[in-house]
Amino acid sequence: MLDLSEQYHSMRGEVLETIDNVLSSSQYILGDHAKKLEDDLAHYSHTAYGIGVGNGSDALHIALQAAGIKEGDEVITVPFTFFATAGSIARAGAAPVFVDIDPATFNMDAAKIEQAVTDKTKAIMPVHLYGQMADMKEIMDIAQKYNLIVIEDAAQAIGAEYYGKKPGELGTAAAYSFFPTKNLGAYGDGGMIVTSDRALAEKSRILRVHGSKPKYFHHILGYNSRLDELQAAILNVKFKKLNEFNSMRRAHASYYTEHLNELSPHYVKTPIEKEGNYHVYHQYTLRVEHRDELQSYLKEKGIDSMVYYPIPLHVQPVFKSLGYQEGDFPEAEKAAKEVLSLPIYPELAEEDLTYIVKTMKEFYHSKS
Ligand SMILES: *Cc1c(COP(=O)(O)O)cnc(C)c1O
Repeated sequence: MLDLSEQYHSMRGEVLETIDNVLSSSQYILGDHAKKLEDDLAHYSHTAYGIGVGNGSDALHIALQAAGIKEGDEVITVPFTFFATAGSIARAGAAPVFVDIDPATFNMDAAKIEQAVTDKTKAIMPVHLYGQMADMKEIMDIAQKYNLIVIEDAAQAIGAEYYGKKPGELGTAAAYSFFPTKNLGAYGDGGMIVTSDRALAEKSRILRVHGSKPKYFHHILGYNSRLDELQAAILNVKFKKLNEFNSMRRAHASYYTEHLNELSPHYVKTPIEKEGNYHVYHQYTLRVEHRDELQSYLKEKGIDSMVYYPIPLHVQPVFKSLGYQEGDFPEAEKAAKEVLSLPIYPELAEEDLTYIVKTMKEFYHSKS
């Protein structure tokens, strides 16, 4: 599904050099490399501040808390996403309130948000799933109308654009993840909040160091969640290539789409790029007929594929107390049964793409 070693070998010299530089500096947590990455990613996101934290989940959680979200509040989000989206809301003490997804993009259906707003609603957390940003204009209009905070889950969308705007630029803040498989991946965990809200940035910086400010004075309860210096240094090397890697992903995606569109849309529906969007294809995700059978067939032929995500969050046992049940979000539930993601990492070779397309076609020709 993903070969990370090839990328390492393509930049091995520079990575080893920067690792040696950090190890020799004896500054291992929040040093100059972390500061540089914070500045660069804030700038890249057209925002004023970057706050490096331990992982993407903490970036979401800390951003929510820094924005004032607390127990008793409600935060509107989607059930079709990685667990950490709703997990971070619950960890901040608030209740996740789900709205269904738009079947065309798998992102939050903005037309469904308003009916979920109550007098407890404090924030919206859209997810830019698979690398395509959610409908931020519609979301921001509703947020403005009801005076809501917007924290964007941009873990899968670093480099994506929505009418020229980056994650964190329209919303109150956005959270990035540097989990190794993400478009900008570390060799371990890491995450970052980007925002132009000065107070949110300041409070996030305090929360990541046990709520300490000044040092050893604690007015609020925080965490130990910092971006470590080694990961930041490695990310500074990789960041220089991010745009290039994203365009390679996009090239693979157009190859897949062009060739898989030769199959009947009854069997395979290729991803849709919505107008105004620069999709960075963290995943290349299809809707397919006979999904599980196709996945086994591909596996037999030596091709990995993945289901992101097989179980929507509203039916996860841990969220039972929220009171949702099967049937509440039909589009999320349908997507969970139909989606399949194909390999899309930048270094994927042309012959791999050709082989994957050929094998997909073989499978569906045997069906018709
Ligand atoms: C990866 C991911 C996260 C969490 O990031 P971690 O760095 O793994 O904590 C959150 N939301 C989404 C949508 C993700 O894909």
